[in-house]
Amino acid sequence: RHYQPVLQTGLVERHELNEHLDTAIAESAFKLYYQPVVDLRTGDLVAFEALVRWPHDRRGMVLPDEFISLAEESGQIVPLGAWVLERAAQEAAVWHAESSAVRAATGRPPLRVNVNVSARQFRDAGFVDVVRHAVDVSGIDPRALVLELTESVLMRRDDRVHTDMRTLDDLGVGIAIDDFGTGYSSLSYLREFPISILKIDKSFIDGLGVSQQQYALVEGIVRIADTLGVQVIAEGIEQPEQRDLLAAMGCPLGQGYLFAHPLTPDQARTLVRDTTYE
Ligand code: C2E
Ligand code: CA
Ligand code: CA
Ligand code: CA
Repeated sequence: RHYQPVLQTGLVERHELNEHLDTAIAESAFKLYYQPVVDLRTGDLVAFEALVRWPHDRRGMVLPDEFISLAEESGQIVPLGAWVLERAAQEAAVWHAESSAVRAATGRPPLRVNVNVSARQFRDAGFVDVVRHAVDVSGIDPRALVLELTESVLMRRDDRVHTDMRTLDDLGVGIAIDDFGTGYSSLSYLREFPISILKIDKSFIDGLGVSQQQYALVEGIVRIADTLGVQVIAEGIEQPEQRDLLAAMGCPLGQGYLFAHPLTPDQARTLVRDTTYE
């Protein structure tokens, strides 16, 4: 039974983290970072993806991979996700106020904010109201809000998913498929649901300059998406060569360390301001 202590440590640790999560949720002790999404041809900033972090006394800045799945299992993702949505929408309202003059002059659409939504959170009966509330409270143009869903949401083809998607679409909110290509990817999702953006997973981008097959696959996805009027964001671009290949095949948007790491709210605001008055 020598495995017992290890198991117990794991459970105690989880239990402890769960309790800390409760406190953190109650105190809104999380931070949102914002990673730029850019136009691959012009380099223009078109959106930010909101990425949550948890500043923890002993553990330092805890990354989402360490607590999101825990919060999903316990249901804590519902209040946490609601906070993320509201905070991100409010931050976008600040960007819009900063850049309204230039937008009026150039006719550029408002900067978008992409928010990750977990399957558990989407399935919660109050989800659509949470989105509506975030839009109302912040006063942002709903078209500036994009919800990033993974394929696990779309896999359950029940009526609720279809109804909620339609309601969100009617609200004007954008819907993106995140990590496209990693799950049970099906291009039929693009027909079946009101999808406006498809995010090609980093694993495909990594192989771009290396493998003919990966290249052909990404090019095919870009072309099909374009035909269906769906925008594509290539994720995890780290090399200039990857950006060049993507731009050459007509992939409109990209995101990755090559352009910027996730930024603090202050850094993101500075970028918006600089973009505005350059
Ligand atoms: P994701 O939605 O696929 O987000 C992209 C992740 O890749 C982020 O990690 C980002 O920092 C990282 N990344 C961006 N560019 C590059 C690059 O060029 N190279 C590499 N190696 N990585 C890059 P992060 O912030 O640790 O988030 C991890 C995952 O946690 C996210 O994956 C998302 O699934 C989840 N997540 C983050 N924030 C939230 C949230 O507010 N709600 C929910 N439900 N999930 C979230
Ligand atoms: Ca995402
Ligand atoms: Ca992703
Ligand atoms: Ca992911």
